[in-house]
Amino acid sequence: MIRNLINSIDRVEIPSASKKYDITRILKKYDGKTVYIKDVGGYEVIGNLCNRENIAKSLDIQVKDLMGYMLNAMDNEKNGELIINNNLKKEYIRENPNEIVNYPIPTYYEKDAGPYITSGVVIIKDKDYGINASIHRILVKEDYLVIRMVEQRHLHYIYNKNIKNGDVDVAIVIGVHPAILLAASTSGDLNFNELKYASALMNKPLELIKCDTIDLEVPPGEFIIEGKITKDMADEGPFVDITGTYDKVRKQPIIKITELKRKKNPIFHALLPGGVEHKILMGLPQEPRIYRGIRNTLPSVKNVVLTEGGCCWLHAVISIEKKTEGDGKNAILAALASHPSLKHVVIVDEDINIYDPNDVEYAIATRVQGDKDIIIIKDAKGSSLDPSGDHENKLTAKVGIDATISLRKNREEFIRASIPEK
Ligand code: MN
Repeated sequence: MIRNLINSIDRVEIPSASKKYDITRILKKYDGKTVYIKDVGGYEVIGNLCNRENIAKSLDIQVKDLMGYMLNAMDNEKNGELIINNNLKKEYIRENPNEIVNYPIPTYYEKDAGPYITSGVVIIKDKDYGINASIHRILVKEDYLVIRMVEQRHLHYIYNKNIKNGDVDVAIVIGVHPAILLAASTSGDLNFNELKYASALMNKPLELIKCDTIDLEVPPGEFIIEGKITKDMADEGPFVDITGTYDKVRKQPIIKITELKRKKNPIFHALLPGGVEHKILMGLPQEPRIYRGIRNTLPSVKNVVLTEGGCCWLHAVISIEKKTEGDGKNAILAALASHPSLKHVVIVDEDINIYDPNDVEYAIATRVQGDKDIIIIKDAKGSSLDPSGDHENKLTAKVGIDATISLRKNREEFIRASIPEK
């Protein structure tokens, strides 16, 4: 599934690399551009896979349509279809847990606690909430794993609910279609079925295979780790977060591996912490949520992007079809309310390409009067990811820039010259 996609996208080919730091050097050098490494200790590795272009291509749509497409698929999550096809199991080799030390799992940065799985889709099941799929960083020790579970997230909640009855079955799937990665990065309600959402995104049923040592059905990724999350804890971290800075060491749950499965010639997916792919997977699923939040206030909102320069988390650019003079300001307020981590937001007219930072700057340069078009909100709750914030009190300043053309002005003066089409 992933091999077909890799063959169809633009990529840089690298003959070989070692798994300690070397993969990071290559992924950083080509950040945002897909890299295929032919040989990492005998395994193939793909990196920087999910950028906007590749995700759109894998869904057979245009980049500008991504947000609306996700919104529609989210609304259709319940109609997503999951079917079990155990014939696919023939493609796999079953291996002992200790084989994991030979897998091409990278050590990314200097102070990292060890090799980390960063692209693993973690699947668990709960009798009330059904399947949950999400992505978490996982530290690989020689014969066990340590998983970072952010408090209050679905995995953490379901683990806590079930661990009193004993170890919790878990599968970690590495090397899957971008739709599954995107779905697993999306946080809906507890009973939102991420795998059904992936099916809705792909517009076809999602095939699953039954695990052999645990009670779970999972997408047929390149590598499948079957295991149990235990009540035992071990040190997790240091490890690099989305802003490229270190997160601290915490006690986190240990996963006991019960079996490894891999395809005969598997492709491992290395996802660079702090790289564009990490940011895209964090930010992209938020765009339809922000859009929805604004649409309630301003039905003429057109598109939303969380920009890469803003870590796909702290900065948004939003295009609107302006109908009354205050629309830009209302869009600012609605955007800040619908994504609490948002720090700076720019509102533009529909003729501005929100994916092009130069075009957005052009709008700021030619359509903004600083004394009228900028809103500053002091001491709002901000993101813990922003090192410039007041962390002691969890406060930050929020800024909104209304870079739409003033309706009091003569619109003609703002229209950019066009060239007639051939
Ligand atoms: Mn969930």
